[in-house]
Amino acid sequence: MCIHSKGNEQIYLRALKRADIALWEWNIENSTFFLSSNYSHIIENSKNNFKDLFDFIQKTAADADTASAKNDLIFFLNGNASTYKSEFRVSTNAEEIKFILIRGKASRDIQGKISLISGSIEDVTEKKTLERHIDHLAYYDSLTDLPNRLLFVNDLKAALDNSQKGALMFMDIDDFKLVNDTFGHDYGDLLLIIFCQLIISCIKCLGKLYRISGDEFIILTNEFNSSDELLKLCGNIFNYLKKPFEVKGDKIYITISMGITIFPKDASDIDELYKYADLALYQSKINGKNTFTFFQRQILNSYRRKIDIEQELKSAVKNNEFYVLYQPQVDTVKNQVVGFEALLRWQNAKLGSVPADEFIPIAEMTGNIVEIGEWVLDSVCKTINKMKAKNHDLKKISINVSPIQLKKYNFANRFISIYEKYGISPSLLEIEITEGTLIDLFSYKIETINTLLKRGVKISIDDFGTGYSSLNYLTTLPISTIKIDKSFINNIYNKKNKSIIKCMIDLSKSLNYEIIAEGVETKEQLNLLSEIGCSIIQGYYFSRPLTMDKAEKILIKKRNFGGI
Ligand code: C2E
Ligand code: CA
Ligand code: CA
Repeated sequence: MCIHSKGNEQIYLRALKRADIALWEWNIENSTFFLSSNYSHIIENSKNNFKDLFDFIQKTAADADTASAKNDLIFFLNGNASTYKSEFRVSTNAEEIKFILIRGKASRDIQGKISLISGSIEDVTEKKTLERHIDHLAYYDSLTDLPNRLLFVNDLKAALDNSQKGALMFMDIDDFKLVNDTFGHDYGDLLLIIFCQLIISCIKCLGKLYRISGDEFIILTNEFNSSDELLKLCGNIFNYLKKPFEVKGDKIYITISMGITIFPKDASDIDELYKYADLALYQSKINGKNTFTFFQRQILNSYRRKIDIEQELKSAVKNNEFYVLYQPQVDTVKNQVVGFEALLRWQNAKLGSVPADEFIPIAEMTGNIVEIGEWVLDSVCKTINKMKAKNHDLKKISINVSPIQLKKYNFANRFISIYEKYGISPSLLEIEITEGTLIDLFSYKIETINTLLKRGVKISIDDFGTGYSSLNYLTTLPISTIKIDKSFINNIYNKKNKSIIKCMIDLSKSLNYEIIAEGVETKEQLNLLSEIGCSIIQGYYFSRPLTMDKAEKILIKKRNFGGI
């Protein structure tokens, strides 16, 4: 429908005014520029005298936007777009910023040259603010207000596109789950906020901090002159973390692990750099946490080996690649074998013999340990069954149980059904749980252990003294044995260490626990242990882990263990 009357034009103008739209026309042939009077109202700016569209941009656009706004116009005038469209910031009389969207179409003369352009100007501030808010939500983490993974990827991409040099420093708070589980998520959130502030103050202007997920952060550094600068930054961060954090009036210490990769030295591909920093971080975790690692090619090799192990482990039970060795535990006073520890061995066609220390953590990570652990229990129960059938004086065999197995909801039932299958007494079985695992389980799943205890299965605390300071669990759980970790025995010659071991022994005795010293290799260690009251010994001094046949022979001979 066409509307020509003067009255209707008024309706148009009113509508445009309400819609915050102004109209303009640039007659290039006549060199005139018209701007509807409501423009000043919309933009709240009294400037209204312009020679042409370039002049309009020059006089109104914010300095930072002038060049791009002019480029938009040139782009259109050069025939690269059928519609002219440009968005830029302008300031009001009160120095406030508004966003305008300017649009137009061209009329051409007979030769096809643009003779006139006309269009509209719209105030799009509200839309822009909303867009920015949405952008903020998409690119910033709501808890810490730090840029997130998405922005990290964009920024890294931009740095790589501009051939910048820099580094990615991947950080992960050690055992953060423990903080959340112990103090609650609100407390954990607060700690994260304080942690970020601290890291930002360490970084200063050397880079930017991003929150990647939960307790994972990345620093993307600016260009640096030497790796000494990176080392200095790491040193600063680790120094700051030596001080406690104050959260809700409590003092709490946290440590972090860090993995660092340098670009373009290590790689210039986003995925590769991310993987390298992650691998270096993983290496820091393996090295005992609270440390940083620079990515090196050799880390990649150990990663490949890990992948190989992961792959080969999948079919190891099915292919019959595992076997169990039994290491005697000897009572030096009574001169007899009081038990064995079952130790798993893996012989693989491609990888050869892989040490338990290497493949068990990987099997734990992939979850394979559940199937493998059941195989070990089955194999040990079979051995006990055979030994008992031959009337050997076997007192117990202890089995290492991983936390992953314990956390499986039906662990106790599976365990019971396996020893029942071989008709053996549960009192011949002991499960070795590391101190750390026990603490971790304390809050939940403790009933799993209790179910087994009620049946008569014994519990032994492995690697005692290496984990946590809380001794609470010692009095709460009916433990039967404590195994003093090899690291203490290695340093038993040290006076302080000897006193610590003596303390552990006295504590165990007062609680009526059996105590076993692990990793005893020399006569000297044996004598020192006897001196302070520890008589049960496991270690190379008496015997390395043995095949079932050899273990059996020891039981038959009731061999005198005066030392081998
Ligand atoms: P662990 O439970 O602390 O086992 C003791 C480790 O010390 C064994 O290493 C044993 O061979 C070694 N050892 C014993 N006496 C001596 C000694 O006098 N000197 C030295 N240097 N070492 C000694 P192994 O068999 O390589 O096992 C390493 C770890 O792998 C074990 O540490 C245990 O955590 C894990 N593991 C072994 N078998 C199993 C299993 O069936 N299931 C699970 N979940 N873990 C297992
Ligand atoms: Ca053990
Ligand atoms: Ca141990």
